[in-house]
Amino acid sequence: MATFDERAASSARLSRFARVREQMERQSVDVLLLSLGADLPWLSGYEAMPLERPTVLVVPRHESATLVVPRLEAPRVRVDAGLFSMRPWSDDEDALGIIAGLAGNAKTVAVSDRMWASLALGLQDALVAARFQRASLVTGPIRAVKDAYEIEMLRSAGAAADEVAAALLGGEIRLIGRSEAEVSGEISQRLRESGHARVNFAIVGSGPNSASPHHEPGTRVIGRSEAVVCDFGGTWTAGSDVGYCSDITRTVVTGAPTQELVELYEVLEAAQRRAVEAVAVGEACEEVDRVGREIIAAAGYGDYFIHRIGHGIGIEEHEDPYMVTGNRTRLESGHAFSVEPGIYLPDRFGARLEDIVIAHDGGTIRCNAVDHALHVVEA
Ligand code: ZN
Ligand code: ZN
Ligand code: ZN
Repeated sequence: MATFDERAASSARLSRFARVREQMERQSVDVLLLSLGADLPWLSGYEAMPLERPTVLVVPRHESATLVVPRLEAPRVRVDAGLFSMRPWSDDEDALGIIAGLAGNAKTVAVSDRMWASLALGLQDALVAARFQRASLVTGPIRAVKDAYEIEMLRSAGAAADEVAAALLGGEIRLIGRSEAEVSGEISQRLRESGHARVNFAIVGSGPNSASPHHEPGTRVIGRSEAVVCDFGGTWTAGSDVGYCSDITRTVVTGAPTQELVELYEVLEAAQRRAVEAVAVGEACEEVDRVGREIIAAAGYGDYFIHRIGHGIGIEEHEDPYMVTGNRTRLESGHAFSVEPGIYLPDRFGARLEDIVIAHDGGTIRCNAVDHALHVVEA
């Protein structure tokens, strides 16, 4: 299991700052303004509170960075002097003016993709001459490539989620006669017990609800011989301030499956396995999707696989790179992402199978090791 090492984390951040500035140079971005979202903790170790008072890390291309933070939140900041200084602001001060002042006469400004519109629009008014773009154009490709420490964190997160998935497949989590919401609650509880600091989601879709990929677990009581799709994940922190995500899906059946479900699941399992086998450094992201999709389409289920096959994962549960048609990005060593085909027969039933993998020079790293076979859970 990964353990947190403050000095290693600090030197990782230093190298991220260097790579970010290189990328700013390449794209002629004069200043990066990071607020809500994962870019800020990834770069500084500090996560902004999602409140109305602006928190912004101002990163000029050539000068040192400053974290502009509400005075009452300043005690939460651990200033890493080699990386940035801090400018706390009080409620009687003009935060926008302070941020704009630090941005100077920047011509091109990149702002966090998840910065609130109220702040982004205010900054546009304060920096009238500047052109605005998304920060992810700068940070996305860098964040997508995980370093050795991040790979360890993702593996630890995966191993923790595996404990819960194994309990599901082994029948330790009772399904029949309980509502989806109750089962979702137990999965969440087990995610925390397995070491996750935070539960991000615990989807439980039973019977006809298993055909709805992002089903909100509700009052439906799970019956016998039903498909149950469980997709869950949380954030693993190893005691650090920044965590990494797990994300796994297993489909089980509560009693003897129909022949139709058995056949559908065989196709799904083959699609997932072959798509993972297609993962290789240098291969295009869209190829992973194409390989899985082709198998599902050849079996006649093409119209029922209604989403991309995977998404990148790291500090955020969904981030670059996306395994989707049209993404010609080449896989690099350190790209971490899900491979999660699904087949959904509307109003009847569906199934999905998801693991996290990392493309790597030394061979694909699998963050999940729980069995792929369709398990019958008669509990
Ligand atoms: Zn999803
Ligand atoms: Zn998932
Ligand atoms: Zn996923």
